[in-house]
Amino acid sequence: MTSSAATGATALLRAHALRKSFGRTEALRGASVEVAQGEVVALTGPSGSGKSTLLLCLAGVLRPEAGSVTHDGTRLDDLPEAARTRLRRREFGLVLQFGQLVPELSAVQNVMVPLLMERHGRAAARTAALAWLDRLGAGGLADALPGDLSGGESQRVAMARALVTGPSIVFADEPTGALDRVSGEEVMEVLVSTARSTGAAVLLVTHDNRVAAYADREVVLRDGAVEDPAAVR
Ligand code: ADP
Ligand code: MG
Repeated sequence: MTSSAATGATALLRAHALRKSFGRTEALRGASVEVAQGEVVALTGPSGSGKSTLLLCLAGVLRPEAGSVTHDGTRLDDLPEAARTRLRRREFGLVLQFGQLVPELSAVQNVMVPLLMERHGRAAARTAALAWLDRLGAGGLADALPGDLSGGESQRVAMARALVTGPSIVFADEPTGALDRVSGEEVMEVLVSTARSTGAAVLLVTHDNRVAAYADREVVLRDGAVEDPAAVR
């Protein structure tokens, strides 16, 4: 693993002192993390340490109670709802443990969804979606329904959907958690190499050391805070 720790000046995404509670559970107690442009960061830590909560706060899905998330100099919480949603759609890709594909839509239709929401024309969206499926080794699956896909195939489709808008960062929460070892490693390989070839940064939650090995840097969460402040600076 090389250390290319993000600095304040170059950070693409910067979370500072995030706090988030669910009832009495303090999931995040002042978590800070930075991701540089194009950097692949693995977020690890024990179950329940707040990894998913941190990822969802960074991705703008959950709102932290305190602290700030800044993308390319823009504070997410300063933005009105509509602008925040627009930024999320354009700049962020999200891949969760189970593909979360829309079951009624074919693979290619699932990949088209983010483009249609951005008001791209249907024909152009389809062309782009097919190209992304191809790039992720899922070109032959375009017309398949999610229910007919294996776990690894579903994740390839989910990755195509995450990348089709050309995000500056992809958030992946245990993307290989539901896969066997071989398809898990294939999925990781494809995710990281594709992100690297597009210049997208990746924040990857995993409790798997083999997966963490694909990252440039590892950030460890424990009890809702980053364990080694030196890793964040
Ligand atoms: P990890 O992903 O590291 O396993 P999580 O971020 O999922 O950790 O959870 C951190 C803590 O917050 C845990 O105690 C978990 O039970 C709690 N938690 C997470 N999400 C919710 C939720 N939606 N409602 C209630 N408690 C939650
Ligand atoms: Mg989790």
